[in-house]
Amino acid sequence: MDDPEYAQARRDLVADLRRRLDVDASVLSAIEAVPRHAFVPEPRRQSAYEDRPLPIGHDQTISAPHIVAIMTDLLGLERGDRVFEVGTGCGYHAAVLAEIVGPGNVFTAEYVPELAGTARDRLDRLGYDVTVYAGDARDAFRDEDPFAAASVTCAPDGGVPEAIVDRVETGGRIVAPVGDQTGRQRLVRLTVREGETEREDHGGVRFVPMR
Ligand code: SAH
Repeated sequence: MDDPEYAQARRDLVADLRRRLDVDASVLSAIEAVPRHAFVPEPRRQSAYEDRPLPIGHDQTISAPHIVAIMTDLLGLERGDRVFEVGTGCGYHAAVLAEIVGPGNVFTAEYVPELAGTARDRLDRLGYDVTVYAGDARDAFRDEDPFAAASVTCAPDGGVPEAIVDRVETGGRIVAPVGDQTGRQRLVRLTVREGETEREDHGGVRFVPMR
């Protein structure tokens, strides 16, 4: 495939997501804007616009487009919101978030240093002003002001760690898969309130574990 063919495949994917999902138009526009094929390893490029996860090396995966759409929609982002992503992977979801909130507003942490490095270079090359931290998300961006939202793309066993919740402002939202690796993870949206969080369940999901 060359670029126009990728662009057509991407439009077809977005048309399909629009039919299947009830998500905000801004989310679909963001997905239409990001070249997913540039985020997957060369041998997988032909599959970049199929709605499924793909391997990206180091036993990790890029999430399926519909999951990215649903999670992004649940975050309820507006331009100018500052977002904390846990688990950069290849950087695709960070780029989708950046399309919505704008340059300089996405802060993402990746545990595997090689993935963090590749994602940083790739986002840079594609013109996304995203800050990538290499290391455990629990230690990332401690000096930053609190975030409007956090998007967790790996599954913490037994709830979102305090270190992540603490980084989100009161009234802010956290979307995360929560649970173990036995296939019983739930996608939850937490709203941070004074001293507590409100929890909504958004169905069963399957993500790689948070380390
Ligand atoms: N957001 C990605 C999906 C990444 S998969 C996308 O656009 O498709 C989840 C990622 O979380 C993996 O790359 C994994 O290495 C990372 N991860 C796991 N535990 C982590 C932790 N404690 N801190 C930061 N990243 C972590």
